[in-house]
Amino acid sequence: MNFRIMNFRILNFRIITAAVLIGVAAASSAAEPAKAAEKITAIRAGKLIDVIGAKVLTDQTIVISGDKISAVGPSAGVKVPAGAELIDLSRATVLPGLIDVHTHLTGNPLLHGYRGLGESDMRAAMYGVRSARVTLEAGFTSVRNVGAGGFGDVALRDAINDGDFPGPRMLVSGYAIGIQGGHCDENLLPPEFNYTSKGVADGPWAARSKVREMVKYGADLIKICASGGVLSKGDEPGAQQYTLEEMKAIVDEAHKLGRKVAAHAHGASSIRDAILAGVDSVEHASLIDEEGIRLARERGTYLVMDIYDDDYILQEGEKAGMLPESLLKEKEIGQLQRDNFRKAFLGGARMAFGTDAGVYPHGDNAKQFFYMVKYGMSSMQAIQAATINAAELMGWKGKVGSIAAGKFADIIAVEGDAAADATLLTKVKFVMKGGAVIRR
Ligand SMILES: [Zn+2]
Repeated sequence: MNFRIMNFRILNFRIITAAVLIGVAAASSAAEPAKAAEKITAIRAGKLIDVIGAKVLTDQTIVISGDKISAVGPSAGVKVPAGAELIDLSRATVLPGLIDVHTHLTGNPLLHGYRGLGESDMRAAMYGVRSARVTLEAGFTSVRNVGAGGFGDVALRDAINDGDFPGPRMLVSGYAIGIQGGHCDENLLPPEFNYTSKGVADGPWAARSKVREMVKYGADLIKICASGGVLSKGDEPGAQQYTLEEMKAIVDEAHKLGRKVAAHAHGASSIRDAILAGVDSVEHASLIDEEGIRLARERGTYLVMDIYDDDYILQEGEKAGMLPESLLKEKEIGQLQRDNFRKAFLGGARMAFGTDAGVYPHGDNAKQFFYMVKYGMSSMQAIQAATINAAELMGWKGKVGSIAAGKFADIIAVEGDAAADATLLTKVKFVMKGGAVIRR
């Protein structure tokens, strides 16, 4: 009896607390848009990269109201409202904020192999706070996070959206889903430890259920492992893991729930079956063959080929704790992946910029531009892969990826002509996200 009364009181208290909190939230959200709407900024851009038209415009003015772009055009024709804050980038090249569609912000590049076993999911999420800031300061205003433990990526996304600390806009997957003993499992411990990654699901219905679980806890997209990997123990990158039947179930369930699917796939058969199952992007695609390139082109499946991180793995991997077998695997497929990047691009496959940040230090994402140009793209095409193409893959084409009225004011600038030399993007001088200057 007493217990019930106490419970009732607690309940009452909760209702009152909730009412107070709702009141506070309503008051602050009512005040904020009004304040944001007052803030008007104008950027004078000496050069502006039009990523949709694939050309460089000169002497442009961008007007920003709150967090969105309200006007952009030749400076002579754009009216700057009185009282606007002026940002002079007349000696710089201005372009949309960059997008990396394959990151692991909670991943510490110094904790590979057995070293990572001592780190908790919560500690990894805290590391993600640092990675988020560093990534944003490097000019990457949006990322997809494709695989994290403990839903640290969901927490990171929500904290950034709540304004707790700076970071890029994020789409997150939660755990990467894969077969027992596969690339997305944790295979470092002997059986008596009885440990299986929470992303493991074998069979079509278990895999469907795992998709539902990821969505339940906040995933924006689904990440699966279609083949073995480089940094996992006891598997082969060229060997298929999920079957076509399992991947069809995953894709069907994810798309039904409004989520895209990104498939880690190195080997040719895993790439082919992932595309046939209907995934939205193939990650790595290292050993893609002619059939895979044709299927990707015909179905419009994006390829996300991380062709920079080979440098870090081979130069720093041993010091960072990577297993000897991982280094051997990278030596076998690293160069093939770069050669196949060229073949796939020339073969007409759609490409989005993704780097596997977290394997290598966060903030170095733009180092990949050098290799994208070396292996067949023009600088403009590489920039398109990291802006408008990446935005399309994320389903955010209407929000980010180009400098246009109505889109978020995610804008960066560099010295020199980045459209002629995309490697300049490793030295971003100015970063704005949603109208707020992050770096200048
Ligand atoms: Zn990855």
